[in-house]
Amino acid sequence: MTFSQRHFLGIEGLSRDELLFVLNTAESFREISEREVKKVPTLRGKTIINLFYESSTRTRSSFEIAAKRLSADAINISASTSSVNKGETLMDTARNLCAMRPAALVLRHPASGAPHLLARLNQCPVINAGDGTHEHPTQALLDVMTIREHLGDIYGKTVAIVGDILHSRVARSNILALTTLGAQVRLIGPPTLLPPEFSRWGVERHTDLRAGLAGVDAIMMLRLQRERQTRNFFPSLDEYARRFCLTVEALKEAKPNVIILHPGPMNRGVEIDSRVADGPYSVILEQVTNGVAVRMAVLYLLTTQERLATQDQSVAHGQAVGQEGSDVQAEPSAWDEHTVPKRAVGQ
Ligand code: ASP
Ligand code: ASP
Repeated sequence: MTFSQRHFLGIEGLSRDELLFVLNTAESFREISEREVKKVPTLRGKTIINLFYESSTRTRSSFEIAAKRLSADAINISASTSSVNKGETLMDTARNLCAMRPAALVLRHPASGAPHLLARLNQCPVINAGDGTHEHPTQALLDVMTIREHLGDIYGKTVAIVGDILHSRVARSNILALTTLGAQVRLIGPPTLLPPEFSRWGVERHTDLRAGLAGVDAIMMLRLQRERQTRNFFPSLDEYARRFCLTVEALKEAKPNVIILHPGPMNRGVEIDSRVADGPYSVILEQVTNGVAVRMAVLYLLTTQERLATQDQSVAHGQAVGQEGSDVQAEPSAWDEHTVPKRAVGQ
């Protein structure tokens, strides 16, 4: 199978096979981050631009590290230091950046749909690193990858997503990814933060934490997105924490080998108790590790077609395409040979 998407804008619209293909590709990339020299020349000579209009620690550094481990040059631009401050529109900024011929543009933006707008310019592949309350597709992939690592096949597993579903792009992308792969999804939270329209995706809704957690295989906690809340959705933080904070007690309702995920940043004591966040069932830091592999896979897959085309051209011009002159000391692997590794093919 080949990955035929030009942009990576969301989980919506991806088939089960496409999702599995990206996940399998990410799994085969994970090993590179375990090496002493964490670098392969796969994207040598390519530039990846990270354009971030919202604050981010994890996602931005994860994309940057992913690009660098593939030997691409990564440039970070944040809204606070860009010409946005001088009144430039997103489209003009993007047109100018694309004119410098990056291999891909990674965009985080507070407006839902912003990456889709850039994709329409169609000047270079666009990757959605989180758009408003809409989608955060690489986060969902790393979550699913972490669940698969611990629980095996996603099909038939029950996953609870708890908290501020209404404002969460992480929840939307995960609902789409998990249901596409055959999981049962339960949404748990106060009624004001549980949009009824999500029921059409075949998910259950619960307003009682303990009832919702009964027998689940995995629990995904969400941060209260207070920067997006335009009115009071619950009486007070204290009240919210009393009803929805994941404590050791509440955890007893779940399956004995349950795993706990959180996309970060965490509000300890609000949605998750420290004893749970740092406890034996937590896989929160593994999610961060897997995030790099997922982003390597997405960068690789989106820039491959262009790369293969260039490769064909250089071959046609009698030039060698290869490793000579490389200053990168990497162990040999499938990635060093400009091929999709066998594990990622046909799965
Ligand atoms: N905004 C969060 C952070 O600062 C996570 C993310 O970037 O997705 O890490
Ligand atoms: N880091 C995730 C995001 O950027 C979740 C969060 O910020 O709470 O959407």
